[in-house]
Amino acid sequence: MRDVPLFDLTRQYEVIREDVLEAIDEAIKSGKLILGPKVKAFEQKMAEISGVRYGVGVANGSDALYIALKALGIGEGDYVITSPFTFFATASCITRNGATPIFADIDPETFNLDLDQVEEILKTHKKSDRIKAILPVHIFGQTMDLERLATLREAYGVEIVEDCAQSVGSLWKMKNGKSTQSGSLGKASTFSFFPTKNLGGYGDGGMIVSDDKETAEHCAFLRKHGARKKYFHDEIGINSRFDELQAAVLLVKFKYLEEYITERIRVAYRYDELFREKGLAEFLDYPSPVDDRTHVFHQYVIRVKKGSRDGLRAFLKDRGVGSSIYYPKPLHLQPCFDYLGYEKGELPVAEKACDEVLALPVFPELRGEEVEVVVEWLAEYFKSNR
Ligand SMILES: *Cc1c(COP(=O)(O)O)cnc(C)c1O
Repeated sequence: MRDVPLFDLTRQYEVIREDVLEAIDEAIKSGKLILGPKVKAFEQKMAEISGVRYGVGVANGSDALYIALKALGIGEGDYVITSPFTFFATASCITRNGATPIFADIDPETFNLDLDQVEEILKTHKKSDRIKAILPVHIFGQTMDLERLATLREAYGVEIVEDCAQSVGSLWKMKNGKSTQSGSLGKASTFSFFPTKNLGGYGDGGMIVSDDKETAEHCAFLRKHGARKKYFHDEIGINSRFDELQAAVLLVKFKYLEEYITERIRVAYRYDELFREKGLAEFLDYPSPVDDRTHVFHQYVIRVKKGSRDGLRAFLKDRGVGSSIYYPKPLHLQPCFDYLGYEKGELPVAEKACDEVLALPVFPELRGEEVEVVVEWLAEYFKSNR
């Protein structure tokens, strides 16, 4: 059977190549290569898709998080609640600002923050008055419960900063039947346009979106060394600009975003169908279709319940099928966070997830036959390892 890559950007490029090259040519000819008109236009698009008014382009998603927290005045002596099951940048933005992360455990089905645990921390933490924000991640592209987050914000007087690096275009359906976008709730919410993200550039890029004018302006100063007026520095910011060529590429790709999301969901449904057909549910958990939110499938992550996850990964690799582990080690057990004093066993759901998860190929251009090949091999593996 054929090889199936975990991810492949070249198929997409074949389709959009001419548009992209033309947009890049336009940008270079304009002579405005940093924070130019295309950046402005793209900031507007990202604000719109997030249901807010302002977008501030920065150099990458990690800086977006760092700047967002800084703009909210989070610093030394402050605490921020976040997930231990996410990319490192979600937590390092807290410590880069001199504040302290508090990790809450995750929900075993969605891998998102367990909001019961978050509420428990807000109620009982010994420094609860210094908890300034909740920093949730819509992990793998599945929207968190934005209504419950809003309730926590009101009840405990904390800010919300959403890490939307994996969830561009995802929605939460509210009890009144209306939908709201991921990124719409945070006082500031952040995106990454790293090439492998659902909306990825051909290089690095990131953005903060906000409905609050003051916060957005503050972020815009911080990305230019904190200078409100050029060469006059009221505070110490960083150099984190968004470049015009990436904006040119992303404006082209933005037109296809809806289609890309639809295609990712198509792949996920095909896995779902084939897993059921082949009776694989006793061996693995997989994300079932949901109707109170969208899952835009930045990653399609299964949980290996029987046999060895690492064995399965090696088996697939030998047969030319790409897979990956997001994430192999929870953040509360990373050596760099030893000083926080977390111990193994403290956040058992996240720890178990790290031992069991496996991300399978998913991208808009992945063909139906390729999904079939992946599932064939999975069935083969579980049959011979019964
Ligand atoms: C990718 C990612 C980031 C960081 O984005 P970069 O652009 O790589 O700095 C932050 N949080 C999450 C959840 C991510 O997946």
